[in-house]
Amino acid sequence: MKRILITGGAGFIGSNFVRHMLAAHPDYEIINLDALTYAGNLENLQDISKNPHYAFVKGDITDGGAVNAVISQGVEAIVNFAAESHVDRSIEDPSIFVKTNVLGTQVLLDEARKNGVKKYLQVSTDEVYGALGPEGLFSETTPLAPNSPYSASKTGADLLVRAYHETYGLNVNITRCSNNYGPYHFPEKLIPLVITNVLEGKEIPVYGDGLQIRDWLHVADHCRAIDLVLHESRSGEVYNIGGNNERTNIHIVKTILQELGKPESLIKYVKDRPGHDRRYAIDATKIRTELGWQPEYTFETGIRDTVKWYLENKAWWQNVKSGDYIKYYEKMYGNR
Ligand code: NAD
Repeated sequence: MKRILITGGAGFIGSNFVRHMLAAHPDYEIINLDALTYAGNLENLQDISKNPHYAFVKGDITDGGAVNAVISQGVEAIVNFAAESHVDRSIEDPSIFVKTNVLGTQVLLDEARKNGVKKYLQVSTDEVYGALGPEGLFSETTPLAPNSPYSASKTGADLLVRAYHETYGLNVNITRCSNNYGPYHFPEKLIPLVITNVLEGKEIPVYGDGLQIRDWLHVADHCRAIDLVLHESRSGEVYNIGGNNERTNIHIVKTILQELGKPESLIKYVKDRPGHDRRYAIDATKIRTELGWQPEYTFETGIRDTVKWYLENKAWWQNVKSGDYIKYYEKMYGNR
């Protein structure tokens, strides 16, 4: 496997994955196809932009011509990160989620099939399983029951990936990961929002009672898992990825405040989001036993590293938090 197409490689996880692949497989060529939406940022990749094994192509995954122009150069595998990824935005306007996440995936699958691509890996999410009660874990056989337009569109994409395997025999995999955090995380998501708001002396908006539970994984551990699935997995299989780090949202907020030595009085409870899933938790036994994956970060070491990264990379997030982001933030949380 030599030339890999990574779609959505200018986003949070995609940019970490591009960097991981160039370091872990120095003989590979990596092509990053990204439409550069509000979430795509080439500054995430500035350090590797001149690497001769890396190429960036601006293009939309829903545009078959643009996708074909890249794949027909002889791509051996596709890893699809490109998506609209923010639940709140999907509640505001679901249509772009269906277009990018469902139609975009179908276009990629079709071009993969027509051009003889050897492996297609779909990066999906645990949100396709819906919400859990206080007990239990999502396994790969948990029924799909998405609750938001975002997770419904990701589920639609997963089902198309499955269908291309069953119908056309395309060599596919789906990975379903829990919530990621780490460097280059767009500050509309909980952890970077909290860190950057604290550093700016702003209030921290917390939805509802803050007792929603998420299972957190450092992005570097997610990238290593995807690399393993890409190279070692069985065709057609789904792999859950998670680090057994169940934490309430309010616990996350308080941990970051402690880490930065700031008071809890910065917390501001705001109206809960509609259809807010109460708890997600992943059973990652399959990838651990079949592929020997295990996370290197604990939640505590991962959060500490992440806070440090945001402290050391102020210019990056201050840039991201200017312009259109301000309008979005004020619409969601008011002028705080
Ligand atoms: P992100 O929003 O940071 O990045 C998405 C990237 O896709 C951006 O660079 C954007 O420009 C690009 N993109 C959007 N529409 C496109 C289009 N039509 N054509 C080409 N590029 C397009 O997202 P992320 O948090 O890095 O998530 C990446 C993937 O991982 C998504 O598929 C998401 O569903 C999945 N995922 C994310 C998490 C998480 O915690 N962030 C957890 C599990 C799974």
